Amino acid sequence: MRVVMLGTGAAVPDPNRGHSAIHIAVRDQNYMFDCGHGATLQMVKAYIDPTLVNTVFLSHLHYDHIADFAYFLISTWMCNREKPPVVVGPEGTRHFVDHLFKGGAFAKDIEARAQYPNRVKNIDVLRPDVRVCEPGLVFEDDYVKVTACYVEHIPREISPCFGLRMDTVDGQSVAFSGDTSPCDRFIELAKGVDLLIHECTFPEEALEFRAKAGVGTWSHTSPVELGKLATKVNPKELVATHFGHYDTTNPITKKFMSIHMPEEIIGPHQLENVVADIKQNYSGPLRLAHDLMRIDL
Ligand SMILES: [Zn+2]
Ligand SMILES: [Zn+2]
Repeated sequence: MRVVMLGTGAAVPDPNRGHSAIHIAVRDQNYMFDCGHGATLQMVKAYIDPTLVNTVFLSHLHYDHIADFAYFLISTWMCNREKPPVVVGPEGTRHFVDHLFKGGAFAKDIEARAQYPNRVKNIDVLRPDVRVCEPGLVFEDDYVKVTACYVEHIPREISPCFGLRMDTVDGQSVAFSGDTSPCDRFIELAKGVDLLIHECTFPEEALEFRAKAGVGTWSHTSPVELGKLATKVNPKELVATHFGHYDTTNPITKKFMSIHMPEEIIGPHQLENVVADIKQNYSGPLRLAHDLMRIDL
């Protein structure tokens, strides 16, 4: 099993951290958790062929987890994809997918390209096999079993959010939190996994500022909270991800993030604080994700 962190940022434009997306290879099978902006290009950078990714799991429908999906599918259609992918996501996924392709946002592009016989021959790939997620077993094939639970992020009546766990035929396992505040259901789902990939969106210093500024959701996990929950999960390794761009040195990204935290606290040194804060309550192996980080299991 091999995991490549394609994008490790949150929702703000950041040249060094892309949107959420994780590629998982199990033997010769290819899966993706989330498909945020840049996912397809990052796969190509990592020498992963995106036409071979046949199953995509969407943790939730925030745009930083799904924005690349049209690009992923139309570009791989053009590059002779053979099968429509399976897309497993929360309620609302069908609406999202149905409004992209035939009769949707990219209808004219598709109509124009479909004037050529070579493009018509695999046009069926633009009809993904959408499967709406409920907690429990959400996908199974000869290589993996994927289970999901609700996590705490967007109010469920607006849009459900899921944490995911993949168990492979080779006895390996990886769990991905999606976006969430610390969630007992996810701790239960992830217990004892080989690799725990968990969001760590805002550093401790930003939390009070965001509460006062009234921006965004508070439903994320801080480094101190992550350490506590990782100890309960007891994974073989913890990878923290979905960083809210608080390590950026780019002046524009910094300016954007100043809506969420005092600008003067933003910088690469924050990652050292994050490690120290996680380690207050967790003593197992830990890595902070960066784009294109590869983890071999
Ligand atoms: Zn997110
Ligand atoms: Zn989100």
